[in-house]
Amino acid sequence: MQKKGRLIVVSAPSGCGKGTILGRVLEDKERFYYSISCTTRAPREGEINGVHYRFMSREAFERELAAGAFLEHATYCDNYYGTLNAPIDEHLAAGQDVILEIEVQGGMQIREKRPDATLVFIVPPSLEVLRERLTKRGTETPEVVEKRVAQASRELAFVDQYDYCIVNDDLDAAIADMFSVIRAAELRVDR
Ligand code: 5GP
Repeated sequence: MQKKGRLIVVSAPSGCGKGTILGRVLEDKERFYYSISCTTRAPREGEINGVHYRFMSREAFERELAAGAFLEHATYCDNYYGTLNAPIDEHLAAGQDVILEIEVQGGMQIREKRPDATLVFIVPPSLEVLRERLTKRGTETPEVVEKRVAQASRELAFVDQYDYCIVNDDLDAAIADMFSVIRAAELRVDR
Protein backbone atom coordinates (compact mmCIF):
# COMPACT_ATOMS: atom_id res chain seq x y z
CA MET A 1 0.00 0.00 0.00
CA GLN A 2 1.26 3.47 -0.81
CA LYS A 3 2.21 5.51 2.25
CA LYS A 4 0.24 8.70 2.78
CA GLY A 5 2.18 11.95 2.64
CA ARG A 6 2.78 14.24 5.60
CA LEU A 7 1.26 17.62 6.27
CA ILE A 8 3.96 20.14 7.16
CA VAL A 9 3.15 23.69 8.25
CA VAL A 10 5.86 26.32 8.00
CA SER A 11 5.43 29.74 9.61
CA ALA A 12 7.91 32.58 9.90
CA PRO A 13 7.85 36.34 10.26
CA SER A 14 8.77 38.16 7.05
CA GLY A 15 12.52 38.50 6.53
CA CYS A 16 13.42 35.16 8.16
CA GLY A 17 14.52 33.51 4.93
CA LYS A 18 11.50 31.22 4.73
CA GLY A 19 11.23 31.63 0.95
CA THR A 20 14.87 30.70 0.36
CA ILE A 21 14.75 27.67 2.66
CA LEU A 22 11.51 26.37 1.16
CA GLY A 23 12.75 27.06 -2.36
CA ARG A 24 15.50 24.52 -1.76
CA VAL A 25 13.15 21.92 -0.31
CA LEU A 26 10.64 22.34 -3.13
CA GLU A 27 13.20 21.58 -5.82
CA ASP A 28 12.09 17.97 -5.35
CA LYS A 29 8.73 18.28 -7.06
CA GLU A 30 7.88 14.60 -6.88
CA ARG A 31 8.29 14.34 -3.15
CA PHE A 32 6.71 17.66 -2.18
CA TYR A 33 3.61 19.60 -3.03
CA TYR A 34 3.55 23.31 -2.17
CA SER A 35 0.03 24.32 -1.22
CA ILE A 36 -1.19 27.26 -3.28
CA SER A 37 -3.27 29.47 -1.01
CA CYS A 38 -6.28 31.53 -1.91
CA THR A 39 -6.06 35.21 -1.12
CA THR A 40 -8.05 38.39 -1.61
CA ARG A 41 -4.95 40.59 -1.73
CA ALA A 42 -3.87 42.02 -5.09
CA PRO A 43 -1.06 40.22 -6.95
CA ARG A 44 2.40 41.76 -6.56
CA GLU A 45 4.56 42.33 -9.59
CA GLY A 46 5.62 39.00 -11.05
CA GLU A 47 3.06 36.94 -9.13
CA ILE A 48 1.07 34.55 -11.27
CA ASN A 49 -2.48 33.43 -10.53
CA GLY A 50 -2.49 29.68 -9.85
CA VAL A 51 1.27 29.58 -9.21
CA HIS A 52 1.93 31.88 -6.24
CA TYR A 53 -1.66 32.23 -5.07
CA ARG A 54 -5.17 31.79 -6.31
CA PHE A 55 -6.24 35.41 -6.35
CA MET A 56 -9.95 35.91 -5.73
CA SER A 57 -12.54 38.50 -4.79
CA ARG A 58 -13.86 38.79 -1.23
CA GLU A 59 -17.23 37.52 -2.47
CA ALA A 60 -15.69 34.41 -4.01
CA PHE A 61 -13.62 33.77 -0.87
CA GLU A 62 -16.65 34.15 1.41
CA ARG A 63 -18.63 31.77 -0.80
CA GLU A 64 -15.94 29.08 -0.46
CA LEU A 65 -15.73 29.76 3.26
CA ALA A 66 -19.50 29.32 3.71
CA ALA A 67 -19.31 26.09 1.71
CA GLY A 68 -16.70 24.73 4.17
CA ALA A 69 -14.04 24.45 1.45
CA PHE A 70 -11.16 25.73 3.62
CA LEU A 71 -8.98 23.64 5.90
CA GLU A 72 -7.89 26.90 7.57
CA HIS A 73 -8.13 30.59 6.89
CA ALA A 74 -7.09 33.91 8.40
CA THR A 75 -7.37 37.63 7.99
CA TYR A 76 -3.93 39.20 7.67
CA CYS A 77 -3.35 42.91 6.90
CA ASP A 78 -7.05 43.30 5.95
CA ASN A 79 -7.04 40.44 3.44
CA TYR A 80 -8.27 36.87 3.60
CA TYR A 81 -5.87 33.98 3.14
CA GLY A 82 -6.92 30.34 3.13
CA THR A 83 -5.98 26.76 2.28
CA LEU A 84 -8.49 24.66 0.35
CA ASN A 85 -9.13 21.13 1.64
CA ALA A 86 -9.42 19.38 -1.70
CA PRO A 87 -5.91 19.75 -3.19
CA ILE A 88 -4.31 18.95 0.17
CA ASP A 89 -6.21 15.69 0.58
CA GLU A 90 -5.51 14.72 -3.00
CA HIS A 91 -1.73 15.19 -2.78
CA LEU A 92 -1.47 13.54 0.66
CA ALA A 93 -3.36 10.53 -0.67
CA ALA A 94 -0.93 10.40 -3.59
CA GLY A 95 1.93 10.03 -1.07
CA GLN A 96 3.42 13.51 -1.42
CA ASP A 97 4.44 15.60 1.58
CA VAL A 98 2.35 18.77 1.52
CA ILE A 99 3.95 22.04 2.65
CA LEU A 100 1.72 24.86 3.88
CA GLU A 101 3.39 28.25 4.17
CA ILE A 102 0.95 30.08 6.41
CA GLU A 103 0.84 32.55 9.28
CA VAL A 104 0.26 31.68 12.94
CA GLN A 105 -3.57 31.93 13.16
CA GLY A 106 -3.80 29.34 10.38
CA GLY A 107 -1.08 27.28 12.07
CA MET A 108 -3.17 27.12 15.25
CA GLN A 109 -6.24 25.94 13.29
CA ILE A 110 -4.21 23.13 11.74
CA ARG A 111 -2.91 22.21 15.20
CA GLU A 112 -6.55 21.69 16.31
CA LYS A 113 -7.90 20.00 13.21
CA ARG A 114 -4.94 17.91 12.12
CA PRO A 115 -2.97 16.40 15.01
CA ASP A 116 -0.99 14.46 12.40
CA ALA A 117 0.51 17.68 11.02
CA THR A 118 4.05 18.80 11.86
CA LEU A 119 4.42 22.50 12.64
CA VAL A 120 7.72 24.25 12.04
CA PHE A 121 8.60 27.83 12.94
CA ILE A 122 11.57 29.63 11.39
CA VAL A 123 12.97 32.45 13.51
CA PRO A 124 15.71 35.04 13.04
CA PRO A 125 18.68 34.89 15.45
CA SER A 126 17.27 38.05 17.08
CA LEU A 127 14.94 40.95 16.35
CA GLU A 128 18.05 43.10 15.90
CA VAL A 129 19.32 40.84 13.12
CA LEU A 130 15.86 40.82 11.54
CA ARG A 131 15.80 44.64 11.56
CA GLU A 132 19.26 44.68 9.92
CA ARG A 133 18.21 42.20 7.22
CA LEU A 134 15.00 44.07 6.41
CA THR A 135 16.90 47.36 6.25
CA LYS A 136 19.62 45.91 4.00
CA ARG A 137 16.99 44.51 1.62
CA GLY A 138 16.19 48.15 0.93
CA THR A 139 12.67 47.48 -0.33
CA GLU A 140 10.92 49.04 2.66
CA THR A 141 10.88 52.44 4.31
CA PRO A 142 12.22 52.63 7.92
CA GLU A 143 8.60 52.89 9.18
CA VAL A 144 7.60 49.71 7.38
CA VAL A 145 10.71 47.95 8.68
CA GLU A 146 9.70 48.87 12.24
CA LYS A 147 6.13 47.66 11.58
CA ARG A 148 7.45 44.32 10.34
CA VAL A 149 9.78 43.96 13.33
CA ALA A 150 6.83 44.64 15.67
CA GLN A 151 4.68 42.12 13.76
CA ALA A 152 7.53 39.58 13.96
CA SER A 153 7.76 40.09 17.69
CA ARG A 154 4.01 39.33 18.07
CA GLU A 155 4.27 36.23 15.86
CA LEU A 156 7.30 34.94 17.78
CA ALA A 157 5.07 34.57 20.83
CA PHE A 158 3.53 31.53 19.09
CA VAL A 159 6.79 29.58 18.79
CA ASP A 160 6.00 27.38 21.76
CA GLN A 161 2.82 26.15 20.02
CA TYR A 162 4.94 24.65 17.23
CA ASP A 163 6.70 21.27 17.13
CA TYR A 164 10.04 22.53 15.84
CA CYS A 165 11.88 25.83 15.76
CA ILE A 166 14.66 26.50 13.26
CA VAL A 167 16.92 29.49 13.88
CA ASN A 168 18.05 30.93 10.56
CA ASP A 169 21.50 32.08 11.56
CA ASP A 170 23.38 30.26 8.83
CA LEU A 171 21.34 29.55 5.68
CA ASP A 172 22.92 26.18 4.81
CA ALA A 173 22.49 24.96 8.38
CA ALA A 174 18.85 26.12 8.38
CA ILE A 175 18.18 24.23 5.13
CA ALA A 176 19.77 21.09 6.60
CA ASP A 177 17.62 21.53 9.71
CA MET A 178 14.49 21.78 7.57
CA PHE A 179 15.31 18.50 5.83
CA SER A 180 15.87 16.88 9.24
CA VAL A 181 12.46 18.07 10.44
CA ILE A 182 10.77 16.78 7.29
CA ARG A 183 12.47 13.41 7.68
CA ALA A 184 11.38 13.25 11.32
CA ALA A 185 7.80 14.06 10.21
CA GLU A 186 7.92 11.20 7.72
CA LEU A 187 9.12 8.80 10.41
CA ARG A 188 6.40 9.74 12.90
CA VAL A 189 4.10 7.00 14.10
CA ASP A 190 0.38 7.85 13.88
CA ARG A 191 -1.71 7.02 16.93
P1 5GP B 1 1.96 37.72 1.71
O1 5GP B 1 0.81 38.65 1.47
O2 5GP B 1 3.21 38.46 2.12
O3 5GP B 1 2.18 36.78 0.54
O4 5GP B 1 1.56 36.78 2.94
C1 5GP B 1 1.23 37.33 4.17
C2 5GP B 1 1.17 36.23 5.22
O5 5GP B 1 0.09 35.34 4.95
C3 5GP B 1 2.43 35.36 5.28
O6 5GP B 1 2.75 35.17 6.66
C4 5GP B 1 1.98 34.05 4.66
O7 5GP B 1 2.70 32.93 5.19
C5 5GP B 1 0.54 34.01 5.10
N1 5GP B 1 -0.30 33.12 4.27
C6 5GP B 1 -0.19 32.84 2.95
N2 5GP B 1 -1.12 31.96 2.58
C7 5GP B 1 -1.84 31.66 3.68
C8 5GP B 1 -2.95 30.79 3.94
O8 5GP B 1 -3.48 30.08 3.08
N3 5GP B 1 -3.42 30.75 5.21
C9 5GP B 1 -2.88 31.51 6.20
N4 5GP B 1 -3.41 31.37 7.43
N5 5GP B 1 -1.84 32.32 6.01
C10 5GP B 1 -1.32 32.40 4.77
